[in-house]
Amino acid sequence: MNPTIVQVAIPTPLHQTFDYLWQAPQAAVPGIRVTVPFGRRSVVGVVVATASDSEVPANKLRAVTQVHDEQPVIPAKLFSMLQWASRYYHHPIGDVLTTALPVLLRRGNTTQLAQIESFQINQLGLQYTPAKNASVQIAILERLKLAGVDVPVAAETLATISSRWRSVIKPLVEQGLIERQMQEQVPENLSKQQGPELLEEQHIAVTAVSETIGQFKPFLLQGVTGSGKTEVYLRLIDSVLARGQQVLIMVPEISLTPQLMQRFERRISGCLVSLHSGLNDTQRLQNWLLASQGKANVVVGTRSSIFTPLPRLGMIIIDEEHDSSLKQQDGFRYHARDLALIRARDEQCPIVLGTATPSFETLYNAQQERFTLLRLQHRAGDAKPPEMALLDIRRRPLIEGISDRLLMAVETTLSEGSQALVFINRRGFSPTLLCNDCGACADCHRCDAHMTVHAKRARLRCHHCGSERAIPQMCESCGSDQLDNVGYGTERIAAAMQEAFPDATVARIDRDSTRRKGELEKQLEAATRGDAQILVGTQMLAKGHHFPGVTLVGILDADRGLFGTDFRALEQMGQLIVQVAGRAGREKRQGKVLIQTRNPDNEMMKLLVSEGYDAFAQSALEEREQAYWPPYSFVALLRAEATDSASPVRFLKQIRQLIDGYKLDDVFVLGPAPAPMERLGGRYRAQLLFQAGKRSGLNALLSMLNRSIPELEGAKRTRWSIDVDPVDLF
Ligand code: ADP
Ligand code: ZN
Ligand code: ZN
Repeated sequence: MNPTIVQVAIPTPLHQTFDYLWQAPQAAVPGIRVTVPFGRRSVVGVVVATASDSEVPANKLRAVTQVHDEQPVIPAKLFSMLQWASRYYHHPIGDVLTTALPVLLRRGNTTQLAQIESFQINQLGLQYTPAKNASVQIAILERLKLAGVDVPVAAETLATISSRWRSVIKPLVEQGLIERQMQEQVPENLSKQQGPELLEEQHIAVTAVSETIGQFKPFLLQGVTGSGKTEVYLRLIDSVLARGQQVLIMVPEISLTPQLMQRFERRISGCLVSLHSGLNDTQRLQNWLLASQGKANVVVGTRSSIFTPLPRLGMIIIDEEHDSSLKQQDGFRYHARDLALIRARDEQCPIVLGTATPSFETLYNAQQERFTLLRLQHRAGDAKPPEMALLDIRRRPLIEGISDRLLMAVETTLSEGSQALVFINRRGFSPTLLCNDCGACADCHRCDAHMTVHAKRARLRCHHCGSERAIPQMCESCGSDQLDNVGYGTERIAAAMQEAFPDATVARIDRDSTRRKGELEKQLEAATRGDAQILVGTQMLAKGHHFPGVTLVGILDADRGLFGTDFRALEQMGQLIVQVAGRAGREKRQGKVLIQTRNPDNEMMKLLVSEGYDAFAQSALEEREQAYWPPYSFVALLRAEATDSASPVRFLKQIRQLIDGYKLDDVFVLGPAPAPMERLGGRYRAQLLFQAGKRSGLNALLSMLNRSIPELEGAKRTRWSIDVDPVDLF
């Protein structure tokens, strides 16, 4: 007998499911989509469970109005991971389940793969003689004959012949001269290049992981930049595919690393699909369906690809596992790496976390032997590790923020026919427009932040909220025309390099210079070919690129990480420096890295440069332990925001009172305090920070808050959210 009631998850901020009557003839199974009435609207939700009774009185129960699926769109194991995530991140199940689905499925689209229409000519058609004046008909027949008998030609191709093609082809199909077909579109990658022979360390890593296929086992693949981690992934993918299973490989930002995707395409045969924000909703759904129906063997995706159903999942690989883009920063704030570990456990498959600069959490897990450590200590091929040195820029002449010694090094590099890369992690011309007469800066009207000067476009732009205005001719406070650009961004540094080296080609690579579609690919290719001798860019340049001609890397603003307000600032600085440095000397010629600093005696900086990332991380981890930060404690943030400055703190004080009346189990509460940048996009923000020694204590507290906060006065006026394991405290 059919259960009469289904519990449906609906995208709302409420931490509950909703009961509906089930009247469909088919069985109700968790994971299928239904349309239900909700208030005065009709919404698509996901069935979570069935029940035989409900707390809602029978005469108030409404019925499911439409059932969209026969098979669950979220299969059982994935479903349980999502339920786990909802509890762990204290985020409403309805929002978790819908976040996991492609947009079009959230709207109720079908789960049918797109069909492509094609036409083919048969023997009969071959003998047919068209009338001499039927030019479109002749052209269509010619095109089909060119393809060959019984070889399909896509409708799309025929449409390029004439806009009348369809009315012309119709009678030919009716006469049985041409056959029409509808086929599912499953892209097949046929090319299969051989990889190089593996080095010993690579071989050890591939063997160790391959042996565990079929069971849950987490690995940290820590390999210096250029050591051949990607080559290891490719071999692992081969061995999973040979067993007929699927691989999920997650990379931070596919759109920033087109080279990586091309490399996968050259080497992996079969159906390879990508899932990232560069796809439109239709492409995304199509690729998702190919994966979930088991037709795609390999999914290459960004963080949300962790939610892709994969019926034969055999391995998860996460490249650059330290990258903060794996953490979703709004809405359902999950960390894709952490979810991937849960998923691998549920699906009983190995998971490989690869990076040159492991996150401190991952390092700690490896030290605790929860993860197996695999190391690649040597660069592949002839490349040697780059030489790193600090450039003390105190009391040295600087030209546009660049020291004379760095300029000299660039000159030497160019004279040797090599390329130089200059790294500054700031877009625009300068980060501040300052009035020399009154000292006022051009500020964002909506944030507690200065506007960045974008000289080329003659605009001021806020890098926090995106608001823009023209660069003023006069000070907005006192009317003086004595305005100065203070500080440096990529635009300014690129101009300075061009001035210093007029004969060289300077390429600027940042989010502004690559906004237009195809522009990044073009610039990266130029950088790879060596067309540009000097590359100036932001962290976009640090991401896994391989520029064979780069031998010198100059880092201009490394010091910023030393004084960050966030407990992760130092970790991120270390990772960024090592990653940028890793672009130097990746082929035959030895690389050199010069780091400009005003803090040459800083212990952490010295450790990083002289001993490398491991020693640096070890020392930074000790600091973390003393300060009781993760991974030595568990942290969560409760954020509140409102359009007036008083409400967030007032609201959090109410919450604090609630907490003070609750018995805490090993949890410290800090705050409320305004966020480090209090005003953002016109909203004021404040936060409460929780530091806990045990997950259980933190979990209990957060559950209590989720239940109690909605009942507080003020909860309607103040937007609030919980962030478990935040990656930044802003
Ligand atoms: P990573 O991902 O660690 O940065 P890659 O896999 O991109 O390293 O390898 C760096 C370079 O070394 C690439 O040009 C790659 O083709 C080459 N390489 C990798 N493994 C080998 C190998 N076993 N033999 C020769 N060259 C290799
Ligand atoms: Zn002024
Ligand atoms: Zn702003």
